[in-house]
Amino acid sequence: MNNKFETDAIRTQIERSQFLEHSVPMYLTSSFVFDDAEDMRASFAEEKERNIYSRYSNPNSSEFVEKVCKMEGAEDGFAFASGMAAVFSTFAALLNSGDHILSARSIFGSTHSLFTNFFPKWNIDHSYFRIDALEEIDNLVTKNTKVIYAESPTNPGVDILDLEKLGEIAKKHNLILIIDNCFASPYLQQPIKFGADLVIHSGTKLMDGQGRVLAGVTVGSKELIDTIYRFSRITGPALSPFNAWVLSKSLETLAVRVDRHCENALKLAEFLEGHEGINWVRYPFLKSHPKYAIAKKQMKAGGCVVAFEVKGGIAAGQHFFNAIRLLSLSANLGDSRTIVTHPASTTHSKLSPEERLSVGITDGMVRVSVGLEHIDDIINDIDQALS
Ligand SMILES: *Cc1c(COP(=O)(O)O)cnc(C)c1O
Repeated sequence: MNNKFETDAIRTQIERSQFLEHSVPMYLTSSFVFDDAEDMRASFAEEKERNIYSRYSNPNSSEFVEKVCKMEGAEDGFAFASGMAAVFSTFAALLNSGDHILSARSIFGSTHSLFTNFFPKWNIDHSYFRIDALEEIDNLVTKNTKVIYAESPTNPGVDILDLEKLGEIAKKHNLILIIDNCFASPYLQQPIKFGADLVIHSGTKLMDGQGRVLAGVTVGSKELIDTIYRFSRITGPALSPFNAWVLSKSLETLAVRVDRHCENALKLAEFLEGHEGINWVRYPFLKSHPKYAIAKKQMKAGGCVVAFEVKGGIAAGQHFFNAIRLLSLSANLGDSRTIVTHPASTTHSKLSPEERLSVGITDGMVRVSVGLEHIDDIINDIDQALS
């Protein structure tokens, strides 16, 4: 029987223990015991599927991964200690020295740093394509290109990439398409439907949704995940059982939380659209968004992030942040608490001003991760800070 998304998020569960607990227990154990010498031999020879050591697998992380696989329509996955551990390990497992990554220009700041400052050490090269010109990708593919990488919606500008088109391009050139789906969450968008081979999440964001744990996960085909698993069980970026337990619980409420995040975000975006204190506001499900039609095609709702630009440049921006009373000044997102961020001085400060402008980050730009407080209170705080 095929259950719906919300049901699988709640009813996907590892086997009950002898105590028949209702809520899943935590398996805070580094290793597991064997019945006898033959069990030990067969387990290490991988003749049976079982837990041996929590760097390889643990019941709590397996449950978390199984839920994400069902949500994303993926065959298999591996859970990591953070989103960046997932990003790094996925690339490090799949790529060889000499390989080339073709990535969207608008990506998470640490992923950009990974491509720019660290991968060259291992002779792994990258080039960026403009997200408004997917047709240019054809000309950027080299004989060494192995992967196309992108995020949608993008951070922090909430731009939208056409995932179906990316899927077609990757297929045409026989490249592995990897989508960082963190901004959408698996509830709003499932990139595998559009041709992605692997989907990465930072579980730190909407998946946990309450700002408690760091986590990451990569899901996709059995074959690719097996390569990632072989690499990861040796290099040790595995998610801790405690954090996996927290996350698996969090996923039980993902759908209801994200529904409210999106409802609040759309209301805030609509409020800001007419506000005289700002130059522009961007939200995927606002009709004024340049990619509104694509967002509607591939997403269930617009997500939790709204971006806008305060009038008056950097000074007005600083004034805005200093005037905020209720909301949090922080760099995280996808939290039940609304968070306002200044990308130019925080998440994207490592980029040069020119690089920032090339991905649409202006000095006055504000990113709001709209939380679950009452929308009237969120709007009132932003309104009073703008005036
Ligand atoms: C936060 C984030 C990451 C990194 O995740 P961590 O859990 O912080 O390591 C990667 N991609 C995107 C889009 C993110 O927002």
